[in-house]
Amino acid sequence: MPEIGDADSKRGAGRMIPLLPLRDIIVFPSMVVPLFVGRQKSITALKEAMGAGKQIVLCAQKKAKTNDPTPEDIYEVGTLGTIRQLIQLPDGTVKVLVMGERRVRVERFLENERYFHVEISEIEEAPVEQGSLAELLDSLRATFETYVKLNRRIPPEMLGQIAKIEQPSRLADTIVAQLALKLIDKQRILETLDPKARLEQLLELMQEEIEILQVEKKIRSRVKKQMEKQQKDLYLNDIQQLPKESGDGGNEFKNEIEELEAAIADAELSREARDRLGRELKKLKMMSPMSAEATVVRNYIDWVLALPWGDRTSDNLDLKGAEEILNSDHFGLTKPKERILEYLAVRSLTETPRGPILCFVGPPGVGKTSLGRSIATSLGRKFVRLSLGGVRDEAEIRGHRRTYIGAMPGKIIQSMRKAGSKNPVFLLDEIDKLSMDFRGDPSSALLEVLDPEQNSTFNDHYLDLDFDLSEVMFLCTANDLRGIPGPLQDRMEIIQIPGYTDHDKLQIARSYLVRKQIEGNGLEGIDVTFTDAALSRIIDGYTREAGVRSLEREIGGVCRKIARHVVREQETGKSFRVRAKDITRYLGKERFSRTQRERQDQIGLTNGMAWTQFGGVMLESEATVMPGKGKLIVTGKLGDVMQESAQAALSYVRARALNLGLSTDFHQRVDIHIHFPEGAQPKDGPSAGITMATSLVSCLTRLAVRHDVAMTGEITLSGRVLPIGGLKEKLLAAHRNDIKLAIIPKANVKDLSDVPNAVKKGMEIVAVEHMDEVLRHALRLESPEAFARKLARPLLPPDVLSGSGALDEGDHGRDGRKSTIDAPSPLHASSE
Ligand code: ADP
Repeated sequence: MPEIGDADSKRGAGRMIPLLPLRDIIVFPSMVVPLFVGRQKSITALKEAMGAGKQIVLCAQKKAKTNDPTPEDIYEVGTLGTIRQLIQLPDGTVKVLVMGERRVRVERFLENERYFHVEISEIEEAPVEQGSLAELLDSLRATFETYVKLNRRIPPEMLGQIAKIEQPSRLADTIVAQLALKLIDKQRILETLDPKARLEQLLELMQEEIEILQVEKKIRSRVKKQMEKQQKDLYLNDIQQLPKESGDGGNEFKNEIEELEAAIADAELSREARDRLGRELKKLKMMSPMSAEATVVRNYIDWVLALPWGDRTSDNLDLKGAEEILNSDHFGLTKPKERILEYLAVRSLTETPRGPILCFVGPPGVGKTSLGRSIATSLGRKFVRLSLGGVRDEAEIRGHRRTYIGAMPGKIIQSMRKAGSKNPVFLLDEIDKLSMDFRGDPSSALLEVLDPEQNSTFNDHYLDLDFDLSEVMFLCTANDLRGIPGPLQDRMEIIQIPGYTDHDKLQIARSYLVRKQIEGNGLEGIDVTFTDAALSRIIDGYTREAGVRSLEREIGGVCRKIARHVVREQETGKSFRVRAKDITRYLGKERFSRTQRERQDQIGLTNGMAWTQFGGVMLESEATVMPGKGKLIVTGKLGDVMQESAQAALSYVRARALNLGLSTDFHQRVDIHIHFPEGAQPKDGPSAGITMATSLVSCLTRLAVRHDVAMTGEITLSGRVLPIGGLKEKLLAAHRNDIKLAIIPKANVKDLSDVPNAVKKGMEIVAVEHMDEVLRHALRLESPEAFARKLARPLLPPDVLSGSGALDEGDHGRDGRKSTIDAPSPLHASSE
């Protein structure tokens, strides 16, 4: 089973600043906000900040309820703010006035018990040409005006202020700060760096809010009118004038009913749906047009009519054309592409192919989503994407019953309406991030959606009608296979996309990303080229990832700078050739450098390879010994499994003490500390076993560990090396980090066939069965052969063999020869 390792080895060369985790609020740039702070850690952070430039990083917590958040509970993107005022309140809490300044990304949490101290990098706002956004800005202002009119909590003066803001990104930030949105939506806006995308998202969110407010308002006013009418009727009844008064507005209602009748007659519907709508319409006719119930019925009829009951696109089954589209959108990915073409081939033979659902599994940015989009394009189908991240309630998938106030169909039906055809390509994104709680298990609803036996009669709670999903082509994506519930996995064919080598990335950048970013940034007519060396510099110095998302973002960054230059200097005819030496000018200082990893052999420091949801990463383990009483301390955010494998590693070393030239009771006279320096992210899993054992042996024998070796493998008490998961991802990470020799468990050799050739050629891979072999390859030895022979000798502690006391001489071999381990240490038996 693969283990979770360091989730991200990114390091930014930024500034160190205290961080204040916020509950349920996001502070946007240029906003001034009062905050009440009660948590001791937060108060300490504020005080530290007051003493040092008054700057503080403001990041929201993912869950407001968390009392003592850890770094994973805090969003990575936040706002750098300045403290304007800090007042100590009598009850010990603090009121603080902060002003948001600009977006920043937390690169790293630094070790500090008292408060969160983080290293940040500034996020540069993409420049925009305001003219190009004029329309969008106008509709944003107009929509906000509607919103303010409907929402009484926002003071109307806000409109005047908004009108004065010219700069698009500021406008978006100021507006979003006024809206009553969910925290996650606000965070999404904060994380959207492209101003145009930010404006569009905001517009969409506002429109949704407005729809809800309008419905609420309608219901309110109808209820009010209804009550007024009832009172009036009563009154009129009393004075016996009722017949003359009624009938007002009746004509309008009659027209509406007639229109609905015609729409139902024209629509292509299932038989069940047609019958139901007929009944609903009859009910509607009997209702008072202004009643709340009538609104509910109208909404229902609208929903049913809007669904694609019979609309479908016809498939393009030209395999050659499809292959061309797939290749023109994506580099490599041979296996997924072949599988897609097979699907198309089957599809051209039968109307309803019933194969398993394809699920792309891999780290972020490897092209899972965009592959889905290409499949839709190549088939000529509509594309919809539904993100399942954080969906925890069955009703989100399947809708609420109509009796529930404000009920709506679930996300599946909403997406089908968006698709507008009954056979779209439907991407269920992040299916591993579904969660489950007391409100029911969303995965069971999904199971029905994905099951070809059941999905032709998918029943949404709101519609309460069977809707046919059998023509939909479902695809799924996930980062981590283990997060997908078993029964769902059974329906899927898993296609792993492990990540790219630097060589692949260069090709992707050269042939795809550069072109995309040039077009995306309006530079089509301008001669912009990137040299390979420039692209390699970006890959090396500015990204550390398995996919190509940051790479694409950085290339986009360069393009935007060029766009700015072109607009400012009016130089549309000029050629821009981006060379390696220009990159710092465009993107600032390099963020990662290859020299960050130790370049020298060190005692006690070993490179491990770990698997995370974000792909493989390097995970160093460091061990040190000091005089003590036999304590084993393991630190660096570890889980129980890691603690146990540290114990196993120590037991192995104790069993081999004599072979290694150590005294048999060495462990009683020292404390051993094993640490995983790249802290912050929790790690667990057994595959760092051999890494820890190597560090231990190194610091006990004073033999250095080779810095160009990396390893992965579980260790047993007797030193056997057991297989691990995620081999491909781990070796890709080693390749990215210039490792020369990788040590892997022998039982994993079968997995090597999946590893790209470039990786296999770039390093030596040694498969081992026992820890003794690991040491032989990993330690810097004068004579590895002699060392191996020494370890191979059957030496057991004398007290076990004969019941006699501890060893008294430096002679550890039955053959009477002295140890060949040369570096002396107080732990060696020879020094006793
Ligand atoms: P994921 O869904 O795996 O997180 P995306 O589909 O969002 O990743 O991909 C991120 C970006 O990288 C997209 O612009 C995508 O087109 C690009 N990309 C990823 N893999 C490739 C590839 N093999 N060839 C070309 N572009 C790629």
